Amino acid sequence: MCKGVTMSILRKRALVDAVVLLVLMGAGWAYFSSIEAFELLAEFVERYEDWELDELVTSLVLIGIAGFVYAVRRYNDARGELDRRKQAEANVQWLAQNDALTELPNRRFLNGFLQCFDDARPSGGETRRHAVFSIDLDGFKQVNDLHGHFAGDALLKTIAQRLAMLMDDDLVVRLGGDEFLVVTDLSVGTDVARLADRIAEAVTQPVRVEGFQVEVGVSVGYAVYPDQVTSLADGVRCADIAMYAAKQSRVSATMAFDCDMADEAARRLKLESAFRRAVRDDAITPHFQPLIDLESGDVYGFEVLARWTTSDGEVIPPSVFIPLAEQTGLITDMSERLLAKACREATLWPDHLGLSFNLSPTQLSDRLIGLRILTVLKETGLSPHRLEIEVTESAMVQDGDAALEILNGLRAAGIRTALDDFGTGYSSLSQIARFSFDRIKIDRSFIGDFLENEKQNNIVRAIIALSHGLSIRTTAEGVEDATQLEALRALGCDAGQGYLLGRPMKAEDARALVGDARYGGQDNVEGALRPAAKSA
Ligand code: C2E
Ligand code: CA
Ligand code: CA
Repeated sequence: MCKGVTMSILRKRALVDAVVLLVLMGAGWAYFSSIEAFELLAEFVERYEDWELDELVTSLVLIGIAGFVYAVRRYNDARGELDRRKQAEANVQWLAQNDALTELPNRRFLNGFLQCFDDARPSGGETRRHAVFSIDLDGFKQVNDLHGHFAGDALLKTIAQRLAMLMDDDLVVRLGGDEFLVVTDLSVGTDVARLADRIAEAVTQPVRVEGFQVEVGVSVGYAVYPDQVTSLADGVRCADIAMYAAKQSRVSATMAFDCDMADEAARRLKLESAFRRAVRDDAITPHFQPLIDLESGDVYGFEVLARWTTSDGEVIPPSVFIPLAEQTGLITDMSERLLAKACREATLWPDHLGLSFNLSPTQLSDRLIGLRILTVLKETGLSPHRLEIEVTESAMVQDGDAALEILNGLRAAGIRTALDDFGTGYSSLSQIARFSFDRIKIDRSFIGDFLENEKQNNIVRAIIALSHGLSIRTTAEGVEDATQLEALRALGCDAGQGYLLGRPMKAEDARALVGDARYGGQDNVEGALRPAAKSA
């Protein structure tokens, strides 16, 4: 705006200057003509020929012409410079409103567009229907990790071109990273759901980059103005909520916004900020569930289980807050603080007792995780030999090579590893073959009815036999009654964990348990149940 004002002031001044000079020249010419000044000058020059005045006049005329040529050339230079500046300004303006990689408009442009659209809405009059689609790629990070950033960039460019082609005259925006947004003017009878499917199809078609076939998944959420939302800006917010719901559902790649989603999003946002506070205030605490050696009946360690009670006294289960921690990126901070607390606690137990700690799948793609764990061990003074890290099969499958590298690093430092929830995921023998785990934990879904269900029974037997063959120890999870315990012992299962043997308990109860009396044989398992009664 300022630049425009300056330019018009300059233009006005140039015009005034030109007019004033022309008027002055005209007036001068008229005056000198009226007194016949030119004839007088010629006469004067002729009379004083020996003063060389004719040369002087010629020189003055030549200087005038040269000055004129000089002024014209400088004027051209100035105009060229001005054009270059204008071009540079236009480039900066373009860059401010567009994404350099895909050349699509960016978030800033979108904000301006939304503002203009919503300001120009006729109040109470007819409004044209518009749909907003929020598009988020799934698995883009893996493409970058696996094929490099060049492939990631090529994929984004191709997707941007496809979207621009599909949506023709509509607005296609790259919001940043792997997020896009489309705003489309709906003509009568447009099937919005079908359009969302076509967007999803366009995005998920494989892309060839340097001989590789690269593909990603997608989540698309959409909202329709004015049917569902009162402004386009609100449409963007609601399409985002629907996209998030699509991502969570894993059933469909596309999802239309509905009001329940908004309630759910508000609830989630509240929970998310409460969780953020809880992590910051160290309100996530470790509880400890005893792990029992089935041969001796002794406690050989405890599994750390995270617990969160909100300031309103509501108990939020790990099945809710662990995924939240992963999605918000708070898992690293939460896990580090929890491990530190648990390690400090473990240093108060007898030295032969170990600590089992769960790592979630996202943590296995954090290349610094090994270093983080070792730092905590160093700071708390717990020996690495007393720590066992539990990972699930899904973590191993997501990014197998990175996971293997991390687990190898942990093992090299003396930390043991366990394959958790075995049987629920892929139960892949290749996982066991690729990495030598110290322990396999048989998921509690098998233990629950393996006595009544022959199939489950065979699976439990097979897992125990396989593990023994590979010299891997086995722990049965979810042992809830004495007959299960007996049967597992008879099958040669090495260890057990479950409500029968001890519920997850507070730190002071765990301390009292290992300080007071050790489990000693089967009779004492009964005794061990007493602390479980006071557990949280
Ligand atoms: P998990 O690692 O399989 O942990 C065992 C779960 O089984 C715990 O649930 C425990 O309370 C429960 N459990 C133990 N014995 C029995 C039994 O006899 N019967 C039944 N029905 N359940 C039993 P919890 O504490 O709710 O934790 C659920 C999951 O949350 C854990 O499954 C683990 O995957 C995750 N989790 C908990 N704490 C953490 C943590 O600090 N970090 C990470 N990454 N994940 C955690
Ligand atoms: Ca576990
Ligand atoms: Ca488990």
